[in-house]
Amino acid sequence: MKVLLVEDEDKIAAAVKRGLELKGYAVDAVTDGDTGLSYALDPDYDVIILDRMLPGSLDGLDIARKARAEGQKAPILILTARGSIDDKVEGLNSGADDYLVKPFSFSELVARIQALLRRPPIPNATVLKYADLTLDPSRYEVTRAGKPIKLSSKEFSLLEYFMRHAEQILTKETIINHIWNEDAIVMPNTVEVYIGYLRSKLDKPFSGKPALIKTVRGFGYKLSS
Ligand code: CA
Repeated sequence: MKVLLVEDEDKIAAAVKRGLELKGYAVDAVTDGDTGLSYALDPDYDVIILDRMLPGSLDGLDIARKARAEGQKAPILILTARGSIDDKVEGLNSGADDYLVKPFSFSELVARIQALLRRPPIPNATVLKYADLTLDPSRYEVTRAGKPIKLSSKEFSLLEYFMRHAEQILTKETIINHIWNEDAIVMPNTVEVYIGYLRSKLDKPFSGKPALIKTVRGFGYKLSS
């Protein structure tokens, strides 16, 4: 899952970026409103976090409003130092989906992000399920046919993306854009390598069961039973 973070306070930005990356998210972090808007128009983000007060000609609410007007559908979370009711209403009217008042705890931020991510595609599903696979984003647990499977954070992130887009063909480019941030060095075979890791953990040990990660020749990959 790829996150855009627009935050001008270096300490907060660095802590949030590092923390989310440890949780397996790919994070692009920028620090002013104008750059923030240019990034916020990219449809590849799965979640956008905007600080409200930003240097430059646009604040977080302007970015939310303009990104929505340009068709950005990703959930938007606004960070702000202020927490009055009016502020909240204004934030939500701008097209933001949620609102977090500073100072916030990192665990609350992660919980909000996870709640936003599960809103549209799978309403109310805390645990993602597909065929005999389950993935619990809040506990970082995966099972197949009831057996726990240990995944690295990147493998987990890749499987989560597949499960949120089950039965859809995902190109290598789409996968790279959602799982790695723009600074990551992604070699042409990186996706194949990670698909290989996932298959060795999810499909190979379950030889009596159908392989779930399918190659769609010439297009990409698909989670399908
Ligand atoms: Ca700020």
